[in-house]
Amino acid sequence: ALIQSMSTLPGLIGLRYTNSAGDEWSSGSYPQGEYTRGTTWLDEQLLMTYPVIREEQEIGQLSGAFALAAFRADLADFTEELQTKENESRRVSYLWIGGGTIAVLLLCGAVIWLLVFEQTKRIRQLKAQAERFRNADFGEALPVRRGDELGELAAVFNDMRDKLRTTTHSRDYVDSILSGMNEAIIVSDEEGKILRINTATTHLLGYEEGELEGTSIDFVIDTKKSPSLASDSPSGLPREAIFQSKYGESIPVSYTCSIIDSDGVGTSSRIYAAQNITERRRAEKRIRYLARIDALTKIPNRMQFQHLLQRGIARARRASQPLCLFYIDIDHFKEINDTFGHLAGDTTLETVADRLSTALPDHSVIGRLAGDEFAVIIHGLGPDKDGLQQTSLLAQKLLNRLADPFFVQGHEVFMTASMGVAYYPKDAPNVIDLIRNADAALYSAKKSGGNVFAFYTPAMNEASVERLMTKSRLKRAFERDELLVHYQPKYNLETGEVFGAEALVRWELPDRGLILPSDFIPLAEETSLIIEIGEWVLDKVCEDFRVWQRSVGSPGRVSVNLSLKQLRQLNFISRISSILRSHEISPTSLELEITETTLMENPERTIKLLDQLYGLGLHLAIDDFGTGYSSLSALQQFPISTLKIDKSFVRHVVTSPDDATIVDTIVQMGRNLNMDVVAEGVEDEGQLNFLQKLGCTYVQGLLFGDPMSADNYLELLLAQAEGTDTHRALFA
Ligand code: C2E
Ligand code: MG
Ligand code: MG
Repeated sequence: ALIQSMSTLPGLIGLRYTNSAGDEWSSGSYPQGEYTRGTTWLDEQLLMTYPVIREEQEIGQLSGAFALAAFRADLADFTEELQTKENESRRVSYLWIGGGTIAVLLLCGAVIWLLVFEQTKRIRQLKAQAERFRNADFGEALPVRRGDELGELAAVFNDMRDKLRTTTHSRDYVDSILSGMNEAIIVSDEEGKILRINTATTHLLGYEEGELEGTSIDFVIDTKKSPSLASDSPSGLPREAIFQSKYGESIPVSYTCSIIDSDGVGTSSRIYAAQNITERRRAEKRIRYLARIDALTKIPNRMQFQHLLQRGIARARRASQPLCLFYIDIDHFKEINDTFGHLAGDTTLETVADRLSTALPDHSVIGRLAGDEFAVIIHGLGPDKDGLQQTSLLAQKLLNRLADPFFVQGHEVFMTASMGVAYYPKDAPNVIDLIRNADAALYSAKKSGGNVFAFYTPAMNEASVERLMTKSRLKRAFERDELLVHYQPKYNLETGEVFGAEALVRWELPDRGLILPSDFIPLAEETSLIIEIGEWVLDKVCEDFRVWQRSVGSPGRVSVNLSLKQLRQLNFISRISSILRSHEISPTSLELEITETTLMENPERTIKLLDQLYGLGLHLAIDDFGTGYSSLSALQQFPISTLKIDKSFVRHVVTSPDDATIVDTIVQMGRNLNMDVVAEGVEDEGQLNFLQKLGCTYVQGLLFGDPMSADNYLELLLAQAEGTDTHRALFA
């Protein structure tokens, strides 16, 4: 069995069986010696000894020897094979690892790229948005999808966009308002550095829009004629200045300066709003000229002459020099007028003015005081022996020159004049008395037959006696109730409706009929009688007003003329308000008319007074506008609501382009200043239509009849309420 086993197992080189008795059987070559049970490794052989068991009894042991060479060769083969296999599997793993890593890396890269792409896209959007903001394009709001930092940034951007859009919209709005304005607007910082200007400023001054930025506001001022604007205290009240254009031209402007807090942190800007008043200045100049110069003879009128005499006397007083006044009146001028017509009368007056100017020494002043009355001032001529002789020579020379016949429309006209002479300071210390005394001398010359001159003597004061008589008569008249008030309706030029009336006082003398105020108001003004008359008129107006109110509800606004003396009264306001109160008349129903000259007499006090009157609710009007000496900017400080254009400008408004310009200018000025404008003295339809075209607001005048009694005014109001009034057609 051992031998058989030997042949079946390759590599088995020897077998040995030993029984429990120690008998041995062997086959092949099993090495000699005793070997422990189990496996024993020799150099060339592997020995294996195991027990042989039968019926649970060890019966011996079997040992086998295996040749290791083949086994080792096999093992080597196997190891080699294993190695190859291992290498192969490692390469595959490496391949896998490399590929996997690359794949993972690629995947990560892609994810990162995607993330980065998304972020840059959002950043680019933000950048583009910022870029658009710069060009004031606000497009759509950015989408805010996530709450990350970019999301927050986008939200901030959107917020900014909304704010910017509103500011830019309001800025654009302000810009379009600014460039649409006719007023030149200049904005400067606190130091007076120009920040911006509007289109009207570029038109006014000739600079381009950016050209003035950064320069001082005083750069646009004609510094020789105008005070600094930078140091101007901003009051919001209109003031005047002279601007200088880029081309050196002086431009008078009316401007207001106000301050604004520009950024909410206390930095303020100044806003200058200026209007070119060249036209207004020109018109004002023309108004003043016409107000002072007699239109027919082109020499000073009464007002201007008195003004010049006032100045002459002041100068003479300072130099301790005399002054001589001639009062000249044409003899029988009425006859010339009646015989040859008004045109001849006008020519006569022009001739007188001409002749006086050529015959008088240089620097003499000539004026036309009234109809055919002229006066002359000669400086330095006094009542000393020489002076008296010179005066006589000059007076005679004038009379001779005036007596030269002249031709009017082919008719030879003979004219003479009379003359009264008075000296300052010998005959009178002031304008009023000097004129009055020269007039008294003239009166005496007239009485001696005319074509002569007379020096004033105190005995000539009979004329003043006569005046005194009139004064006391006037006082009596007042006490006897001979005064009455008439009303001249004022009409709305657009609708033809009666808008109110002006109260005009009259004196009804039993033997002389109605005397007009121009004949007795100046008398009354010489005494305190004017105050009593004024208060009486106001009282009467209130009384009439109550009567009208009972029938028509709202009788319109009634205006009452005020005299300077009344305004000067210390308790003026309380007297006025007590009269209104006693009749329970609302002050808003009344308007007080004050002349320009009265206003300017003591402007500071008058402003305060008028503010108080205005506070009571009374309306205030400037009467006879254009005949005073003030400038409109001076008048702006008074709380005036109505401007009454003097009738001297209305008279020739249709025929004289100059007067038309003046009236037009006053109407425009009134509108700019938010005032009602009333044209006085409208006598014909031509004037009415013309004033309508100019956009004047109200008219009054003889076109609608004479000033009327209170009863007739009420009838007019009732007729209007019933629609049976007749004057409306005039306004159509
Ligand atoms: P005024 O206030 O300018 O009054 C307007 C004058 O123009 C009034 O003269 C009026 O009758 C007159 N008038 C009105 N329409 C025309 C017209 O179409 N053509 C012409 N040529 N004249 C017209 P009146 O009534 O002679 O008054 C003269 C001035 O006397 C008034 O001028 C006013 O200054 C003053 N006056 C009148 N009543 C009073 C008064 O109660 N108190 C005071 N202080 N002054 C008064
Ligand atoms: Mg008046
Ligand atoms: Mg008037």
